[in-house]
Amino acid sequence: MTSDSATVYRGRFAPSPTGPLHFGSLVAAVGSYLDARSRGGEWLVRIEDLDPPREIPGAASMILQTLENFELYWDGSVLYQSQRNAAYADAIDQLQSRRQLFPCACSRKEIADSAIAGPEGPIYPGTCRQGMDNPRQPHALRVRAEDRNLNFSDLLQGYIEQNLARDIGDFVVRRADGIHAYQLAVVVDDAQQGITHVVRGSDLLLSTTRQIYLQELLGYPTPEYLHLPIVVNSAGEKLSKQTYAEPLDVQASRKLAAAVLRFLNQPIPADFSGMTLSEIWSSAAQTWDPQSLPPTLTGVVPVLA
Ligand code: GLU
Repeated sequence: MTSDSATVYRGRFAPSPTGPLHFGSLVAAVGSYLDARSRGGEWLVRIEDLDPPREIPGAASMILQTLENFELYWDGSVLYQSQRNAAYADAIDQLQSRRQLFPCACSRKEIADSAIAGPEGPIYPGTCRQGMDNPRQPHALRVRAEDRNLNFSDLLQGYIEQNLARDIGDFVVRRADGIHAYQLAVVVDDAQQGITHVVRGSDLLLSTTRQIYLQELLGYPTPEYLHLPIVVNSAGEKLSKQTYAEPLDVQASRKLAAAVLRFLNQPIPADFSGMTLSEIWSSAAQTWDPQSLPPTLTGVVPVLA
C-alpha cells in the first residue's frame, strides 16, 4: 500500500463479511468509489471481519469477487481486520495508560434495566465507572464519555452534534469475549490506511461522533464524512440478510449499475447500453456531483428497469 503524503484523497469501502453484497452495500461501494475517482483519489477495500461469530464463511471472497465482476477495482491490497489485533491492542494500551478506559461486566439486560433510552440504544448508566466488585471476571472495556458537545459537518447530511455522555454513555472498545469493538477498529484502520474521506451508509451517521472522539484521544486526524442514504425496502426496512436482500445477480449488472446511479440521483451515461461497466463507472465519475445526492437518511430500493 502506498502512503505518500502527496495523496489528497483516499477513500475506502469497508464491508463486513456477514453475507453476500446486496443492493444496499453496492450503493455504498459505488458511492465511495465514484467520490474517490471523481477527485482523482485512491479507493481502498477493507474487509471488516472483526467478529467471527457473525461472519458467513466465504462471504469475504464473494464480496471481493462481486466487486471485480462489477469492475470496481480497488487500489493496493485488501486489509483484513482479522489480522489487525496487535494494532487494536496497541490502541487499547494507549487509552489504558491514560486511564480513559474502565472494566465493566454489566450484562445487556442489566444495562437495559437501569438505563434510559438514547438515539443509539440504552445510555450506559455508569455502573462500573468507579470500579467493579470483582475485576477478575470476564469484562468489557469501556471508554469514558465526556460531557461536552462534539460536532462535525457531514458533507451530505449537514451539521451533527452529540454529547457522548448525554446521548450515548461510556461505550465499549473491547468486548468481554476479547473482540475489539467496531468503533475502535474502524478508527485505528482509517488512521493507519491514511483515509481522508469516509463515504458510507447513514446507519453509521451517529457512530461518527464516537469515532471522532476516539480519534481525538488517540491523536489521529479526522477524515471528512459523507453518509449516503441507506436502501430500504418498500416497508421501510434496511436491506440486510434479515430482510432477505437479494444477493446481486451479476448477469443483471448493467441494470444494477443504472439503478445505483438512479438511486444516487446521478446521470446515466448517454450511450450506456454500448458501454462496459468500467466505461460506465469512469463516465459516472466524470459527471459525479455530490450536490445532487439525495440528502436523506433512507431511499427505497428502485424497481429494476
Ligand atoms: N463494516 C461496516 C458495515 O459493513 C461499515 C463500516 C464503515 O464503513 O465504517 O456496515
